[in-house]
Order: sequence, then C-alpha cells, then structure tokens
Amino acid sequence: MTLSPLLASYDHVILDLDGTVWVGGAATPRAPEAITAIRAAGKRLAFVTNDGGLSPEEYVRKLWSIGCTAAVEEVVSVGSAIQFVLAERKPGARVYVIGAPALFKHVVDAGHQIANNTPEAEHADAVVVVLHRDFVYNDLLNATRAVFNGAELITGGMDRSFPTVGGPAPGTGAITAALEYATGVKARSVGKPDPEVFRVALDRLGPGRTLVIGDHLDSDLGGAHAAGLDAALVLSGTTSREDAEAAVDPRPVAIGENLAALVLSG
Ligand SMILES: [Mg+2]
Repeated sequence: MTLSPLLASYDHVILDLDGTVWVGGAATPRAPEAITAIRAAGKRLAFVTNDGGLSPEEYVRKLWSIGCTAAVEEVVSVGSAIQFVLAERKPGARVYVIGAPALFKHVVDAGHQIANNTPEAEHADAVVVVLHRDFVYNDLLNATRAVFNGAELITGGMDRSFPTVGGPAPGTGAITAALEYATGVKARSVGKPDPEVFRVALDRLGPGRTLVIGDHLDSDLGGAHAAGLDAALVLSGTTSREDAEAAVDPRPVAIGENLAALVLSG
C-alpha cells in the first residue's frame, strides 16, 4: 500500500468519522487500509466528529470494531469541545443537557452540575445540545424555559442532517434550530464548522502541514477553512459530486469517491 501524492505532501491528517470513515455501522470501502497506510507513512492522525453520542473511548471501540486502529487521544469529539468551553465558567454551574450519557460526563468533568431532573432545570445557567436518539419534547420545553430565563445556549454544531444506511437523519443543528426558533436566541456553536474542534485536534497533532478529510461541505470544508487548513472531500457521505465540484469558496484540494480513493495510490 502506497500513499497517493496528495497525502504524501502532508504531515498530519484530520479525519471526519460519519460519512468518511464509516456510514452507519460499516467502514467505507478500504477505510481500514487507508488508515493503516497513513500510519505506516509516519503521519499522525486525529478523528474529529460533530457526533457527541459516544465518549472518546466508545469511538475507539467502534473504530476497532470496523477494523481501524485508533487511540483515545486521537479522538476529538464535539463533547470534548463543549467541555473545553464549559471549563471557562466558574465551577458548579447548573447545566441542562440535551445529549447522550457521554455529554453528561463531559459536563461533570468540566466541574459543573447537571440541572436535568432537578427543580432547577428551568433555571439552568447553560443549556448544551448534541443530538441523541432519545430526544423528547420535554427536553425542548425545559431548555426553552431555561434560555428564556437567561441560560447560555451552547450547541455541538449546526449540521442539519447526517447520513445513515436508511437515508439522511436530522442532526444536532435541527434540534438546536428548534430551540433557537422557540427562544429567538442564537446558539453559540462549538462544533464544525466552528474552528474550535479543529484547534483541539491541531494542539494534539503538533506542528506540520495538516489535511482535513470529510464528507460535509459546511462542517468539514468550511470548518477546515475557518481553522486555516486544507480540506479534501469524499463522496461517501452527504455531498454529491456535483455539489463538491461546484464548491469554490473555499475549494477542496481534492475530491474522491471515498477515503481510500483519496489516500491510497492505485
Ligand atoms: Mg461526516
């Protein structure tokens, strides 16, 4: 396995997960080989995802389960970025969480209290939002009232949808938009395309030329641009070839059918 000339010209690679390394439960074609080849060439990797549904440890287990090698410190989830932002606050804030168990842990690890299922739910100091599949109307109700009462609204991203095997599914941005619409308050977004998650990844990778590879025009291509990085687009996720080729500001440095097509030569 040899690397493509594109990959050979970079020191580090930041990979999106959903739509790039996997779709649903399955690796994209030859993704494990592509990741192995990047490592064999001595390049460092980071996995950056807007999906806060799993903890970094769980992402590593999922990567292993589809045949990709990974270490916990290589995974930068949007939960990591939210934890970073919440850590700027005085410890002990009450935080209403719309998200999976992993996000609750990030809030606690940032030194704060969970406001969910307490009398203080509607008087939380902050509301944090990441898509999770058990989202219910009561979350929207409590979070809306908390924001009306002055809570800061922080979201893991504005992705409208994400690819699944059965078709597109509504993303973190769809839930966030519901809250924004109900309250008239605009959320602070820390997920892609905001550069914060990329900065956390760059901090771990160290100096060198870094290429971002992802499937999403806004969050991956736009986010990489906001962080001052080159990005290549794959067509295994949300973006069609027509839309990828029409992207000019910013323009992807390359477009490939999938990760392996960009990374491997021949
Ligand atoms: Mg993606």
